[in-house]
Amino acid sequence: MQLTEEHEQLRNTVTRFVETEINPYVDEWEEAELFPAHEVFAKLGALGLLGIKYDPDCGGLGLDFSYSMVMAEALGNVHCGGVPMAIGVQTDMCTPALNRFGTDELKQEWLTPSIAGEMVGCIGVSEAGGGSDVAAIRTTATVDGGDYVINGSKMWITNGLQADWCCLLANTGEGAVHKNKSLIIVPLNAKGVERQKIHKIGMHASDTAQLFFDNVRVPRRNLIGQEGMGFTMQMMQFQEERLWVAASSLLALDRLIDLTIEYTRERRTFGRPILDNQVVHFRLAELRTEVEALRALTWRAVDEYVGGKDVTKTASMAKLKSGRLYREVADSCLQYWGGMGFTADNPISRAYRDGRIASIGGGADEIMLGIISKLEGTLPAG
Ligand SMILES: Cc1cc2nc3c(=O)[nH]c(=O)nc-3n(C[C@H](O)[C@H](O)[C@H](O)COP(=O)(O)OP(=O)(O)OC[C@H]3O[C@@H](n4cnc5c(N)ncnc54)[C@H](O)[C@@H]3O)c2cc1C
Repeated sequence: MQLTEEHEQLRNTVTRFVETEINPYVDEWEEAELFPAHEVFAKLGALGLLGIKYDPDCGGLGLDFSYSMVMAEALGNVHCGGVPMAIGVQTDMCTPALNRFGTDELKQEWLTPSIAGEMVGCIGVSEAGGGSDVAAIRTTATVDGGDYVINGSKMWITNGLQADWCCLLANTGEGAVHKNKSLIIVPLNAKGVERQKIHKIGMHASDTAQLFFDNVRVPRRNLIGQEGMGFTMQMMQFQEERLWVAASSLLALDRLIDLTIEYTRERRTFGRPILDNQVVHFRLAELRTEVEALRALTWRAVDEYVGGKDVTKTASMAKLKSGRLYREVADSCLQYWGGMGFTADNPISRAYRDGRIASIGGGADEIMLGIISKLEGTLPAG
């Protein structure tokens, strides 16, 4: 994809923001297992960075999806995975369906303040009973007069402790599992909502919560699009999420390789720099090549998406490859750092922990392989 001067300006703006407003605080936020989402989002909102691809009527910049991916890529400069992921949830995971299918009234109430950075959103799909099989979710939203009454729970919800609202996938009917679901905006200060923190091995700065809904009443106008179309809309929304995951991994992976070159050039064994061993510089050269291949695949998918094509296959491939490559790069780099790589306060060990989620969240590797196989026509029937 041919990036323009405008793309580069945006990249510089995001990179400057990362250097001044995020990286100096990352260690503190990692330690606290929380970053101040409202504070950071207000600053991002003031720069227009939470609504790059959204309509100016809602406070967005009105640019195409490729600009949002430039931001995702630039967020790879953040010195942890948790803060970019939390931002990505707001820009590319919990808002695409609301923007595309929500009524003007709903968008003004929830999207506009989220673009301004006055509200934090989250996406509620996964449940304790399972995340891979989205059609099997159990949470229900039952019509009662002018309201939906919501019962159930959601698991692993990024931003869940701090979010003002959730884009919730719930069963609104009894019919076929792909046609009985709806996406509903649920204010998380509503009566009957409870949140519980989940502790993780990585992504510490990002808060993750289990959300419980006990007879939570939400007006029916909070429905996004048509009732029963929630599964389909969520599958569409996943395309942007998966491209975001791939784009945001690129510079993060480059940085791991850069840091490892720097470290192994200084560190000596048997009278010479570790980097001078062919097994080491060849491995790093190979990994750099893989990152470039992922970059090409990701931007090809973005280009096609901007052109209006269905990118389910290429987006799934990019997501799969980024998860797999994150594990490979982090593991190889950690090896060359020796014992230092195994310490807790090390950029490589942090990436080793943080990057592991890329093969699980937003559809595990095996789910991506299933989608690719289906589109290849190689999945057995039934
Ligand atoms: C840090 C973090 C943040 C997250 N943020 C969010 C969020 O904001 N919102 C949200 O809704 N969810 C979120 N998730 C949930 C995430 O999307 C799920 O964890 C993921 O979809 C996998 O679901 P599961 O954990 O229930 O695993 P399961 O569905 O129980 O699957 C377990 C494993 O089994 C394997 N597997 C599953 N199905 C198959 C198959 N058909 N063939 C072969 N192997 C298979 C896979 O390896 C998979 O990892 C987050 C998760 C984490 C850890």
